[in-house]
Amino acid sequence: VHELEIHDLDASKLTVTLTKSPGKVPELDSKEVWSMKSNTDHMVRVTWTDDVGWHAPTIEPYGQLTMSPIASCLHYATQCFEGMKVYRGFDGKLRLFRPDKNCNRLVMSSARVALPTFDPKELEKLLKAFMKVDGPKWLPKSRPGTFLYIRPAIIGNGEQIGVTAPSEVLMFIVAVGWPDLSSGTPPGAAPKPPGLKLLASKSDVRAWPGGFGYAKVGANYGPAFVSHMEGRKMGYDQILWLLGSEYQVTEAGASNFFVVWKTKKGKLQLVTAPLDAKVILEGVTRGSVLELARERLVSGSKYLTSEVKDLEVVERNFTMLEIEEAAKEGRLVESFLSGTAYFITPVSAINFRDQEIDIPMGDGTGGYYAATLKKWLKDIMYGNVQHEWGVII
Ligand code: PMP
Repeated sequence: VHELEIHDLDASKLTVTLTKSPGKVPELDSKEVWSMKSNTDHMVRVTWTDDVGWHAPTIEPYGQLTMSPIASCLHYATQCFEGMKVYRGFDGKLRLFRPDKNCNRLVMSSARVALPTFDPKELEKLLKAFMKVDGPKWLPKSRPGTFLYIRPAIIGNGEQIGVTAPSEVLMFIVAVGWPDLSSGTPPGAAPKPPGLKLLASKSDVRAWPGGFGYAKVGANYGPAFVSHMEGRKMGYDQILWLLGSEYQVTEAGASNFFVVWKTKKGKLQLVTAPLDAKVILEGVTRGSVLELARERLVSGSKYLTSEVKDLEVVERNFTMLEIEEAAKEGRLVESFLSGTAYFITPVSAINFRDQEIDIPMGDGTGGYYAATLKKWLKDIMYGNVQHEWGVII
């Protein structure tokens, strides 16, 4: 009987309270946008308590959270989050990109840190409802090809200094203006040569088998900032996270990592780390790159060109030693990162054991595969082609 009284997340119970002090939409690519603090007018809030389950969701004016100093998340990292975007299409429509993937991933991450689960379809409905309220103003039709970043999060919010799972939880969703990290630079900053430079991690490890690297929990990010800042000081953009004595390549910063190379036998391959060890995050962009490559980069496909040939798509453990060897033997074709924040961004160099490995950059701005995959994904996100991954709001 008790089970029946616990409510799942239910978007049909949503109530909306509109702000009385609407904010100003920042200029495109402005300092404000680059500060990544320009929130929209509203936010979603949903409370969960262990006696009721999920309470009725609300959309309400964006505002501060208040919590007890002994709230669980402040002490025990009972926290998880998502990162996704809403896009203003060239056809005038607002779209989410494969939101089911983010919603499922948030359920998985939540469960990993003893936070409650929920029906991911209900979260997707809340995301759409939220973007119906804030999307039209913050992504006006006059700005096709632009996007906002959406940050759903769940935190253990109960007063709970005891070392146990929280009995009260808050889910919230906010949206912020976000710059084009894959090709732009902040206003006033010196233009950067194209391509990201990666610093391969040394003694620091991001995630390990049996850990929680596969979950999008804050505990994976804060401890990585020390390495990231050291890399920045040395002139590198992101850390390429290695694992183990063989220098296994996992992922880079908050993105997945891909390399295109020729095998010793001359076979062209697109390679990325596998998911089975549960060490890397299953990126939505990563999965989409793999699916598109497996569908379109095959022999006889209409998408092939003299630069973009069919190749084998491989998810397997691979090492920096293999990348180093491929570079020495001239077999390296290109490399890129994939993720919501950096989208598809070419990699121009990797510093491994104090030696810089140059990665070919195709036409100079980046490799041909990265450019092709980026265009295919953009076309879906911005409605240049109709595709089931582009979910209209
Ligand atoms: N790896 C990590 C560690 C990340 O934080 C992210 C960003 N969510 C990604 C990869 C890329 O995932 P996605 O393509 O879903 O943004």
